[in-house]
Amino acid sequence: MSASPDRTASHRTTSHGTRTALVTGANKGIGRAIAEGLAERGMTVLIGARDPGLGEKAAASLREAGHDARAVALDVTDPAAVEAAARAIAASPGRLDVLVNNAGISGGALHLPDEADMDAVRRVFDTNLFGVMRVTNAMLPLLRRAPAARIVNISSGTSSMAAMTDPGHYFWDVPGSAAYPASKAALNMLTIQYAKRLRPEGILVNAAAPGACATDFAVDFTRASGRTITRTAAQGAAVAIRLATLDVDGPTGGFFDDDGPVPW
Ligand code: NDP
Repeated sequence: MSASPDRTASHRTTSHGTRTALVTGANKGIGRAIAEGLAERGMTVLIGARDPGLGEKAAASLREAGHDARAVALDVTDPAAVEAAARAIAASPGRLDVLVNNAGISGGALHLPDEADMDAVRRVFDTNLFGVMRVTNAMLPLLRRAPAARIVNISSGTSSMAAMTDPGHYFWDVPGSAAYPASKAALNMLTIQYAKRLRPEGILVNAAAPGACATDFAVDFTRASGRTITRTAAQGAAVAIRLATLDVDGPTGGFFDDDGPVPW
């Protein structure tokens, strides 16, 4: 189903007015950089944040830069919070053109498969997989009101079975983990399932691999792998921004990084 994601709709508005994007976990890191990039392309951005104070701070800094941004309280693991966020967006602005499911956790310490704490593994899945389902399903009625909605799921190169089984790959000698890569591999399959379901409605759904970026999230990876990460959150955000602004004939059901399709 996937093709090149190069074709982008860079228009500030559509004939249906200014486009609105919701980015989960947008108070910092890659999510914040995605929100900033979409705001720079003229979208109204809704900064999803589980801490409303941090969300408002991020939204205020975008407004100070001249963008249209507001915070939406949104803990993706809390069904009531997700429903409340959907109700608030339904009240205003009433529709969503873009949903970026970015909120994610590594789970802190790596959960080696033979030593895994099952509760910790469940928490990772609750955010990285079930959180995406909760938010996507709650926001779908709003996405369906947009003329050409886009959903971008922030995955990870560590979800790639091709990469993880290639002795020559960057990830080969990174210690294994039961939780995070498996949650993102499941997210990739979920992306395909949503893409198939929503394709007839013109809603394009893709997964993005931002690449290892120097955010708070990456501290554990750096510690476990001994690698130094210099890539910025803004660099990591670029592929998601591209997928969020695909033109109508763009790909759906694909997995992309900066260089194009990522082998599953
Ligand atoms: P950060 O830790 O900097 O940011 C994660 C964001 O997700 C924060 O805003 C955090 O909120 C939010 N979040 C976590 N749990 C929840 C929740 N239950 N509800 C709502 N928001 C939540 O990490 P990154 O920016 O690096 O990561 C963003 C995404 O990119 C993740 O999905 C991650 O898996 C993915 N990724 C990151 C890579 C990297 O190297 N950095 C590489 C590949 C993928 P709070 O501030 O409250 O904690």
